[in-house]
Amino acid sequence: MKLGHTGGDSRQTSAASVLAYIGLGANLGDMAETLRQAVRALAALPGTRLVAVSPAYRSAPIEAGGPDYLNAVVALETGLSAQGLLQALQEIEQAHGRERPYVNAPRTLDLDLLLFGQHTIASATLTVPHPRLTQRAFVLRPLLDIDSGLCAPSLGPLAPYLPALAEQEIEGLSLSLSGR
Ligand code: ADP
Ligand code: MG
Repeated sequence: MKLGHTGGDSRQTSAASVLAYIGLGANLGDMAETLRQAVRALAALPGTRLVAVSPAYRSAPIEAGGPDYLNAVVALETGLSAQGLLQALQEIEQAHGRERPYVNAPRTLDLDLLLFGQHTIASATLTVPHPRLTQRAFVLRPLLDIDSGLCAPSLGPLAPYLPALAEQEIEGLSLSLSGR
């Protein structure tokens, strides 16, 4: 569901404001309710406005066992720093009981910072654009649902990466996550 214009720089009127894309995933518990609550929590972050919520997708786990995932992407206009936003994402994950017993373990809630404006970040705790952005249909499809012309720094236009992911099992759901 598109809640506003996402087509590029015209929205980023404040010098400090950035259009960020967040990937949401869950494969434990009441996943739809968890993702709805996460969308509300993201919209309520300081200096932040919810711009768009993608359709929801069901996806099979990659490089892991466990139940299927519920996935979606949201676009946020935010005055937070990238590191501040990452910290906020981790706090929302913790509030939903996220544990990390092992790599790729099933999770109640996973929030990944996919894109932060046109910034490229490579720190010990944060890599942006997200390193697996172009390899995961459950990320790329909802990103392109929000903005089919989306471009990422160093990757360029994202739509041409999608055909190579055709074999990844992913199903669009008629499920609203925008919480009204
Ligand atoms: P994953 O999402 O890769 O399955 P986690 O959610 O457990 O794994 O994240 C592990 C670490 O990845 C986090 O502690 C965080 O510091 C780091 N990280 C690096 N780049 C990002 C990013 N773009 N978004 C979210 N986490 C990131
Ligand atoms: Mg994560």
